[in-house]
Amino acid sequence: MTKKLTVGLVGIGKIARDQHLPAIAADPGLELTACASRHAEVQGVRNYPTIEALLAAERDLDAVSLSAPPQVRFAQARAALAAGKHVMLEKPPGASLHEIEVLREMARKAGLTMFASWHSRHAPAVDTAREWLAQRAVRSVDVRWKEDVRKWHPGQKWIWEPGGLGVFDPGINALSIVTRILPHEIVLQTATLFVPSNTHTPIAANLDFVDLNGATVRAEFDWRHGPREQWEIEVQTSDGTLLIEQGGKRLSIAGEVVDVGPEREYPSLYAHWRELIERGEEDVDVRPLRHVADAFLLGARREIEAFVD
Ligand code: NAP
Repeated sequence: MTKKLTVGLVGIGKIARDQHLPAIAADPGLELTACASRHAEVQGVRNYPTIEALLAAERDLDAVSLSAPPQVRFAQARAALAAGKHVMLEKPPGASLHEIEVLREMARKAGLTMFASWHSRHAPAVDTAREWLAQRAVRSVDVRWKEDVRKWHPGQKWIWEPGGLGVFDPGINALSIVTRILPHEIVLQTATLFVPSNTHTPIAANLDFVDLNGATVRAEFDWRHGPREQWEIEVQTSDGTLLIEQGGKRLSIAGEVVDVGPEREYPSLYAHWRELIERGEEDVDVRPLRHVADAFLLGARREIEAFVD
């Protein structure tokens, strides 16, 4: 049997506990040996307060997975690559586009694998939708990605700070699916960002794109929605409507539900990263973040009432 890849996980918060820890534990090719977090510890592994302390002590570690908020991703990834570790970045891969290019260059020069992960691309509906759409003419796309911020980000401050993306933190998941399934590139035309008077980032956004074949792509992201979330992508084509619901768990085509199997986004992400490392490859697609950056460049900003958590 080949040796397991030893992994360190950095930033033990909501997504680390909900998804990363169980996914690593279930992967037969990975072994979690260390974690770094300022306030949290994980049982059964060595724990450090910072990534620097982890890297100084864990010389033999193969790889590091980063699940802290995006504002600290660059410094952490840079430290991990400088120490010779393969790296997996939670989404979004960074707080700016350029920092990702710098990291990608570092990884390439050092012969290390960098994986900028997009968990929603590993949702079960995505590959089937992509294959079906590849053979069709897309006429229009309607993205509705709406949820209650108080339910999904209780008490989180970083989402409202510069680099935290606001409603684009979930919205970028929709964009990661759209950029994966549509046969043509999309280009942002106009955007409106609704920004509470006491936050730096938007609580809602409307985006209008065109694709290179002339189809219109409308996206509505809203954090003031509830109690049930709406994570849907509806694609009108020459052969009827393709509808992705529940963030990619459910797919229907021309009114018929398609069996896409169970949800296993994070196990699939980790299997993909392991395979990339084994093959000596990278996977860094910044297009979802580039569309968000374009929304901040092009978007009309509307100040709205203060957000009360
Ligand atoms: P979180 O719980 O607020 O943060 C994760 C952990 O990162 C925190 O508990 C904190 O642990 C550490 N951290 C926070 N600020 C830090 C700083 N300035 N320096 C160093 N460490 C810091 O956030 P999350 O919801 O897990 O999200 C983290 C990332 O996962 C984001 O990029 C998000 O988009 C992505 N994600 C989240 C979800 C979700 O449902 N929440 C789903 C998919 C992806 P310590 O205080 O112990 O250091």
